[in-house]
Amino acid sequence: KKLGDRSDLDDLQRRVDTFETTDAQEFGDLPLSRQTLAGLKSAYYTRMTDVQQRALPLALKGKDVLGAARTGSGKTLAFLIPVLEVLLRKRWGQQDGLGALVISPTRELAVQIFEVLRKIGHQHNFSAGLVIGGKNLKHEQERLSRMNILIATPGRLLQHMDQTLGFDCDHLQLLVLDEADRILDMGFSATLNAIVANLPKSRQTLLFSATQTKSVKDLARLSLKEPEYVAVRETG
Ligand code: ADP
Ligand code: MG
Repeated sequence: KKLGDRSDLDDLQRRVDTFETTDAQEFGDLPLSRQTLAGLKSAYYTRMTDVQQRALPLALKGKDVLGAARTGSGKTLAFLIPVLEVLLRKRWGQQDGLGALVISPTRELAVQIFEVLRKIGHQHNFSAGLVIGGKNLKHEQERLSRMNILIATPGRLLQHMDQTLGFDCDHLQLLVLDEADRILDMGFSATLNAIVANLPKSRQTLLFSATQTKSVKDLARLSLKEPEYVAVRETG
C-alpha cells in the first residue's frame, strides 16, 4: 500500500508538471489527487468558476498568484484545492507541523473557509484548525502545534506568534491571504507585515481580493514573488 501511494504521488506530480493550462473546464480536467476529486464530488462541485479556471492551474504548479475577483466568484476553492494538493504532493504528514496558513479578515469568514475545507478535504489525513480568538487562548495554544493547516484571523495569529511556545511556522509551505482588501481596510496592515516577517521566505503565496487597490498592490509586493495576475471581469 505504501509503495502504491508513493508511485501514485509521483504520477500525479508528473501530470502537474506536464499540464497545459488552457482549456480545463471541470475539476476533473485538472491534475488533482483522487482524495481531492472525491471531496469535490461529494460536495457536488463539477464545473470550475472563472477565477478557479484561471488560478488553479497556476497555483497547482507552485506559482504565486494575485487573484482579483468579485465576492461570490468562488475564490475559496481557488486556494483550498492548492492547499490540499501542494501538501499532499510534498508528502506532508501529521508530524511535519504547520504546512499551510490561511489568513482571513473575520472570524465568520474563517469559519466558512474551515467548513469548505472540511467538505472537500475529508479524504485527506491533514489536521486542520481555526485560530480566531473569542475562545480560550490556552485551549488554542495546546492544539496549535499539532496542526498542518490553520485558518486564522490576523490579530489572534500574531498573538500566538508572540506568546505561544512551540508554535513553529519555520517549515510553512503555503500562505494564503484571503480577502486582502478587507484585511487592509480593517487596519491590519502592520499586523500582516509582522506575520509575514515571521514566515519562511521560501514558500508559495496566494493572495485573493475582491478589489485591486493600491494597498493590495503594496501588500502583494511585500509578500509575493513574481506573481501571476488573475483578474476576472464582472460579467453582469
Ligand atoms: P468568494 O470567496 O469569491 O466570495 P466563495 O468561494 O465563497 O466566493 O463561493 C461563493 C459560492 O459559490 C459558494 O456558495 C460556493 O459553494 C459556490 N461555488 C464555488 N465554486 C463553485 C463551483 N465550482 N461550482 C459550484 N458552486 C461553486
Ligand atoms: Mg471569499
